[in-house]
Amino acid sequence: MKKVKVVLSVVLSVLLVVLTVSPAFATDEKCDCGTAPIVQVRGIGETLYDGEGNEVFSAENIIKGILPAIPNLTYYLATGDVDVLVDGVKQAVMDIFAPVSYDNNLNRDTVVTVEGYTSDPVETYVDLNEDYPSSEYTLSQAVYNELGEGHSYLFIYDWTANPFDIAEDLNEFIQEVKEKSGHDKVSICAESMGGCMTNTYLALYGYDDVYNLVMSNSAFNGLEMVGQLFIGNPQIDGEALAGMIVQSIYGSAEYASLIPYIPIFEQLALFANDLFEQAGDRIYEEVLIPIFGYLPSFWCLVPEYHFEEAMEKMLPGAGPELIAFVNEYYEKVVSKTDERVAELVESEDVNYFCTSNYNKYIAPVTVSAKWNSDGVIETYNTSGFATVADLGTTLGVDYVQAVDTGRNMISPDNVVDASTCQAPMMTWFTKNWGHIAYNHDDGTCDFYIWLLTAKEQYTIDSNPQYPQFMYYNTEIPMLMPYICGSGDVSGDGRVTAFDATLILKASAGMICFPTENLSEADVNCDGVITAADARIVLKKASEI
Ligand SMILES: [Zn+2]
Repeated sequence: MKKVKVVLSVVLSVLLVVLTVSPAFATDEKCDCGTAPIVQVRGIGETLYDGEGNEVFSAENIIKGILPAIPNLTYYLATGDVDVLVDGVKQAVMDIFAPVSYDNNLNRDTVVTVEGYTSDPVETYVDLNEDYPSSEYTLSQAVYNELGEGHSYLFIYDWTANPFDIAEDLNEFIQEVKEKSGHDKVSICAESMGGCMTNTYLALYGYDDVYNLVMSNSAFNGLEMVGQLFIGNPQIDGEALAGMIVQSIYGSAEYASLIPYIPIFEQLALFANDLFEQAGDRIYEEVLIPIFGYLPSFWCLVPEYHFEEAMEKMLPGAGPELIAFVNEYYEKVVSKTDERVAELVESEDVNYFCTSNYNKYIAPVTVSAKWNSDGVIETYNTSGFATVADLGTTLGVDYVQAVDTGRNMISPDNVVDASTCQAPMMTWFTKNWGHIAYNHDDGTCDFYIWLLTAKEQYTIDSNPQYPQFMYYNTEIPMLMPYICGSGDVSGDGRVTAFDATLILKASAGMICFPTENLSEADVNCDGVITAADARIVLKKASEI
């Protein structure tokens, strides 16, 4: 993820507080353009600064934290004394996280700020001519291009803070945007962890101020990975670790390219799992619980179905304030998410949309390493509980759609069954598209703008260009409907041997298809044009 990194001074942070109180762009004028301004509620990973304006997770600080642990590692390798290793790891993690850490009772006496927080429209601080590949900025630029000045906003926040406080800030932010834009509602694009904060905001403030809501590969149903870690089930998966690395280098991780790497990473995984076997209790009690269990924001990443067990595992040493917070968060937000989504779907005052991507490896630290994901969050969770086959597998030839919705909701590759989603008619899936990776010119921003500027509750049937299942063709690159090709490549209304010849030529790189014919040629829906497609076409032709 690309980020613009600017040094934030203490003076600036004070100024921003002042600006928040008295909006500089306040106006009483109404805008009659008819389209609500768009607020992107961004995800985890904003650059955080300590009270002195130093970047908390800078490479320098991380290295400074890790270096003193190296003698412990060396000692461990020589003697096998696992306690010494844990001592080193503990000190390193504590040092790195010290500026953002809480005690066991929801107190933190350090100051944490985020870079460039402002409720001004993006054109006042984002360079609209700059190229930000695969970034949230790309969408804010596209929104600006579509809706003009004063309609594109980014809400950023300290992602280690208490989600109730973040939701309160979001509410203030939305009030300011309404005032500045001259609209009485905003549309929200809730990205990644931004989905949790939006979910919390909706729980506290309702949706009177919201026109359209897009949950964009969002964590509002938690992460399986975080849930598993919070219930005490870490598990490093060597094959998936190799997959993650290949994926980050090549953009996708096909199994064949993985094979040479697997043994190395399996060794590494064995080592890590062995370590957990020997010292898991200490790692939890002295490192994972005090750092992550006591960090209020991480509780919004725990799925509802793991919550109770997670509290038992992570909070035995917690103080009353922290326990009360986690209980309240569960009561008000997490336990009511299903209900809330159902209400949003029914409501005539707000349009609800959910987008979810799949066919990517996720960080291989728990059993969810085998699950389908967008690279960061499991597809099961971002989609509001679609039935999803493990990565690299299908639902099986005998699989029957879980819920009878009166229509097919199984993806063309037999990997996703959308019928079990919280909002099956308002949930879109894209194969091979990563996590919050908007780009200009590949159709991804167009899709989101279509949702974010909707004037009614669109469904998966509203636009043939955006059916329930889409495919991100990384070669062109282009977002396209995921529909099995008919094989009529020549467009003459018949499937013939001539079509097969064209497909063979395309698969050999001898001709290029114009975009609109590509889906016709990819007959078996695997995203590439190959001789296999030509064979299917020949078969079809001979049957006719
Ligand atoms: Zn307007």
